[in-house]
This record gives sequence, C-alpha cells and structure tokens, in this order.
Amino acid sequence: MANEKTFDVDVVIIGAGAAGIGAARRLSGRGLSVWLLEASQRIGGRGWTLDLSGLPLDMGCGWLHSAEHNGWRQLAEDGGWEIDRREAAWNEAQPHPRFSEAEQDEAHAAFRAWHERLMDAPPASDRASDALDPGNRWNGYLQAMSGFISGAPLERISATDYNAYERAATEQNWRLPRGYGALITAHLPTDVGCRFATPVEAIDADGDGVVLTTPQGTIRSRAAIITVSTNVLASSAIRLPSALDDWRHAATCLPLGCDEKLFFEIVGEVDLPTEQVLIADPYDPDSPVFYFRPLERPLVETFLGGRSAHQITADGPAASFDHLSTLLAGLLGSEAASHLRPLASSAWSISTYIGGSYSHALPTQAHQRQQLGQPFRERLFFAGEATHPNAFSTAHGALESGTRAADEVLASLAVRRP
Ligand SMILES: Cc1cc2nc3c(=O)[nH]c(=O)nc-3n(C[C@H](O)[C@H](O)[C@H](O)COP(=O)(O)OP(=O)(O)OC[C@H]3O[C@@H](n4cnc5c(N)ncnc54)[C@H](O)[C@@H]3O)c2cc1C
Repeated sequence: MANEKTFDVDVVIIGAGAAGIGAARRLSGRGLSVWLLEASQRIGGRGWTLDLSGLPLDMGCGWLHSAEHNGWRQLAEDGGWEIDRREAAWNEAQPHPRFSEAEQDEAHAAFRAWHERLMDAPPASDRASDALDPGNRWNGYLQAMSGFISGAPLERISATDYNAYERAATEQNWRLPRGYGALITAHLPTDVGCRFATPVEAIDADGDGVVLTTPQGTIRSRAAIITVSTNVLASSAIRLPSALDDWRHAATCLPLGCDEKLFFEIVGEVDLPTEQVLIADPYDPDSPVFYFRPLERPLVETFLGGRSAHQITADGPAASFDHLSTLLAGLLGSEAASHLRPLASSAWSISTYIGGSYSHALPTQAHQRQQLGQPFRERLFFAGEATHPNAFSTAHGALESGTRAADEVLASLAVRRP
C-alpha cells in the first residue's frame, strides 16, 4: 500500500506497550504496511511479566481493573487464558500488631468520607488534598493510599481527574495467573513487524507524511501513532517540531507517578498468611504494603507508592530489600522473616523509556488529556494510557487509546487515498 517512491511504510507506531499493541491489532489485516518501533529490547512496556523459573511476576500492571469493561479481559477469555476472579484482599481486615480492627474500620471510614467529599463537593482549588479533613489522624493513611492509587501525594492530584476515573471504574479487579504482561505481549499481531532497540529520536510532520529519525536511519511514513509515556514525551528524548509544544506541555501536566514493586520468595515451611494485605505502618504516608502469598504463591509482593517508591529506586535493590526485611521482621517476627528471600524488583521511575508508573493530572489540568489525544495535521496521532479520558493509568485504557488512534489513522488515510 505504501507509495514506494515517497514512503517507506504506511503507518509507524512508536512504542510497543499496551497502546501500541492495541493500535497494531486494529491496523492489522487492513492492507496497510505497519511498523512498530520499540526503543527497548522487549515489547509490553509497563506490561511486563517476568518469568522466574515458572513463577510469573507482573512487574508492572497486574490487575484487570474494571474487569467487566476491560478489553484485555475479553481477549483473555477469547484466547482461553485462565482468569482469577476472586476479590482482592485490599479491603479485608488484616490481623496487624499495630493496627487494630477498630483502627482499620476508622481508617477505611476516613477514606470513604474523603472520597465522598471529593466526589460530591470537589474543592475549588481542584487539589485532592483540599478535601482532607484537617488534623484527621488518618490523613497519613490517605496519603499512603494516594501513593498506591496515583503514585503521588494528594497535593499533586486533580480532583476532576480522579473523579473522572472513579465514576467510570467498577469494583471488579481480576488477575491473570500467567501474567498481565504475558497476555499483552501475546497479542502483538503476527503481520506487524516490530523493530526492537529502535528509539525514535526526532519526529517531523511535513505536508505529505511523517519523517522519523532513529539511530538506524530515517523512516518516512504516511502517518504515525505516538504511544510513549508522558514523562518520555515531556523530556527532550524525542525532538518535536515547535508546533507540537501544546502536546509536550500537556504531557508535563500529566506526569507519571512513582510506584514500584519488590518481590520476596517464601522459602521453607513458615506460617505466613495467604491472600492477605499488611500495611507496614498505617500512620506513615510513605508506608509500603505487603501482599502475602498472592494467588497462593510462595511470594510476598511489596507495593511502594510515591515518596517511598522514589526512595527505593534511589537506594537500589540491595538496600531496599534490607529495609523491607527489617520492616517485615518487625511485623512478623524475625523467625518468619528469615524465610524471605529477595527475588525481583522494578525500577520504573529510572527506566529510560518509561520514567514512572502511570499518569495523573496536576490540579486544574485534567483537560490536558483531551489535548494530548488530539491528532496533529492528520499525520501524527497520539495514544497511550494518559490520553484516555477516564481509564488513564491502566492497561485497558492504553488498549482503548491505541484502538481509538488507529481508527483515526484509518479515517485519515481513507480521506487521503486517491
Ligand atoms: C508498578 C505498576 C503497576 C501497575 N499496575 C496496574 C494494574 O494493576 N492494572 C492496570 O491496568 N494498569 C497498571 N499499571 C499501569 C499500566 O501498566 C500502564 O497504564 C500501561 O501498561 C501503559 O501502556 P502504554 O502503552 O500507554 O505505555 P507504555 O507501556 O509505557 O508503552 C510505551 C512504549 O514506548 C516505548 N518507547 C519509549 N520511548 C520510545 C522511543 N523514543 N521510541 C520508540 N519507543 C519508545 C517504551 O519502551 C514502551 O514500550 C501499572 C503500572 C506500573 C508501573
């Protein structure tokens, strides 16, 4: 289909994460030539299942959020992937040495009350922290929750944006025993060639199409879909024409938060809970959360949000595992903690081609999602989780955004076709 004289390819998709793979799926089988350019050595982006001797660890997305509406859930069902539909342990009471059941009830009630204020009477400042009850003893707990939900403190979260997500989301959060990242990467269509280790360094849109500069040379395409994260787009990693300043600015207003995961392996016989969540310190706004034996596996999955996640990447894995082991020994006793071995840790915020976990809008900036998703001169199209109006920060939102951008490309190419 590409005009050989002018274009190397009809459509280039930049980035092979959930959005890029979603776009590739939509464009596949349409008689178009499509290339997927991926900067790193693997596909999946923030969808990454690390297989450690048969133990699949989701280093990025793990939960099929809003499972009833989730396009990946549908693909999993269609492909016969096993889905674990049990409720997550997040909201269940946790036997905790320093967080009694009554305190847990109070903390959950404080969260619900804050949530209701935010939804029913959003603060004029649009700053989610302004819906906190000043002086409430559970404000630190709410900040810790914000670290897990958005990867940033409430002061940096737009109430409008948060509410848009909450209104669209459902309570169903399911899991994939084989891994969410594995599901995403298994869905790259076979007729779309992926070029690994090919970072796009500059993008220009001229009258006819798009010119992309990579270390392997220049590529001319009729259209391109950009799916890189907002932190990559906001950085100077990709040179863009000044006409795209509004898109770059939108990306800076939708930064990625910081969330990391560390996995311990449970070795030997030890009495540790199954499918149970334990917060290290409910009064600490930077507290990690431990998820014991997820899916009955011999693992402790540790979630770190916001400042604690930044700290972990600054300290490096060895020091981080030491620190978390000390916290676990304080909670479980040193005998039980001696059965835990460091297994794997993420470092999203310092990974060159991602730069964080998932996007949140800064106060008063929720409208930038719409700006970021606008096509540019019917040549450049934008996808990625951050462009989704209400399923941002998720893998299914990324999938939908890729499908939407691919439809825009198809419509534009149909108009331009002689
Ligand atoms: C710790 C963590 C936990 C999460 N948990 C969940 C969860 O439970 N459920 C959920 O739904 N979501 C979760 N998410 C979010 C979810 O993973 C993301 O929203 C989604 O995967 C983003 O997909 P994307 O395609 O928009 O972006 P990405 O996955 O970032 O894909 C963009 C791709 O572009 C590539 N790229 C970057 N620069 C260039 C360049 N110059 N040239 C070419 N390629 C480039 C990158 O390498 C990457 O592969 C989590 C994320 C993290 C980090």
